[in-house]
Amino acid sequence: MLIVQKFGGTSVKNLERIRSVARRVAKTKEEGHRVVVVLSAPAGDTDALLKLAAEISDQPDPRECDSLLALGEQKSVALLALCLKASGVACISLNAHQIPILTDKEHGRARIVSIGVERIFKELEAGQVVIVTGFQGITEDGDVTTLGRGGSDTSAVALAAALKASLCEIYTDVDGVYTADPRVVAEPKLLKKISYEEMMELADSGAKVLQTRSVEVAARHRVPLTVRSSFNDNPGTEVVPEDASLEKILVAGVTLNTQEAKVAIRRIPGGAGVLTRFFAPLAEAGINVDMIVENLSEDGTTDLAFTVAKVDLRKTLALSEATAKRLNAVRVEAASDIAKISIVGLGMRTHAGVAHQIFQILADLNITVQMVSTSEIKVSLVVAAEEAPEAVKALHKAFRLDHAK
Ligand code: ADP
Ligand code: ASP
Ligand code: MG
Repeated sequence: MLIVQKFGGTSVKNLERIRSVARRVAKTKEEGHRVVVVLSAPAGDTDALLKLAAEISDQPDPRECDSLLALGEQKSVALLALCLKASGVACISLNAHQIPILTDKEHGRARIVSIGVERIFKELEAGQVVIVTGFQGITEDGDVTTLGRGGSDTSAVALAAALKASLCEIYTDVDGVYTADPRVVAEPKLLKKISYEEMMELADSGAKVLQTRSVEVAARHRVPLTVRSSFNDNPGTEVVPEDASLEKILVAGVTLNTQEAKVAIRRIPGGAGVLTRFFAPLAEAGINVDMIVENLSEDGTTDLAFTVAKVDLRKTLALSEATAKRLNAVRVEAASDIAKISIVGLGMRTHAGVAHQIFQILADLNITVQMVSTSEIKVSLVVAAEEAPEAVKALHKAFRLDHAK
């Protein structure tokens, strides 16, 4: 079998951890498999590099930032190759540009365009373990790019798709995908299986155990994907196509996202065209708007509220204030002390009333819901940040997701 094994930051945090990765990789090879390894930077390295750049400038040059950020993964692959070679395992480390993993030119959030598989197959044929830098690529002009935070997951899945691997294993610091972030809920249940679609919604709503784009790629190319721990041999969670083997549960998981902020614009004269006036400049600036609530009052004015990533708040406020002034809106408000909670499950397609159940649970706790949005398999709500952990725990329990039932 050809297996892609990806190890995240905590799994390659120090030499001891890298040696343990080397043992696992060597064992997989001994079992007769061809192995391609994808590595993240050691935990904390990417943050440290970002901090350095931030010390130099508020808005560091994106191209140079990518050259800097790519270093962490380069260090990991070289160290793993040294460890494997020291124990007699044939291997070769390759940086993304040596493969090449071609991307578009969007520095900091580049998308993979194509992967050259010839070199990898050649090395595998020669009996080598191939160790590849995650998180990065190269443009057709030869510039280094990065794929956005958590991007090594996407590198691994894209490589597995390009190589038509039998399996892509994502090794991390938890046993797999849980019904909630173990850092937020004390006893979440480990999911044996989850559908691509639910996993995509969970990841997109804040479950950063997988980068959203990696799940999109896995779903599109039907890559068999497993999330498991690098600290033990437990089987982990399989991410699979939706089929009859999936338990028919109403809710698969609950997420908490504290990385968004809310902007509200009060009493904007007029109705038609208001949304596009506000959102056009944001789109132009590359700012992603998430939840949107609009209300047209009887007096003909519109109230508009939406959320954006906290990192985009300053820019969003400046742009929104300019639009609000042009349109004679009464005022613009911003709040960073909010959190978004999402409840995800395929069962919602066929069960009515989940939103109502959620509102009831929160009402019983006297928690105010500030914004709501629903999709076929997800309900998202914005609440005050300080009330969010309690809300997540209550929802997790009410939908019977607690391990200790
Ligand atoms: P890696 O460095 O291995 O890529 P990440 O920190 O990116 O690891 O992702 C693993 C983390 O994701 C876990 O430590 C956990 O706190 C967090 N996480 C959030 N939601 C979930 C979830 N539903 N299931 C499992 N882990 C989750
Ligand atoms: N090192 C990168 C990050 O910290 C990519 C990854 O870990 O997946 O975001
Ligand atoms: Mg990660």
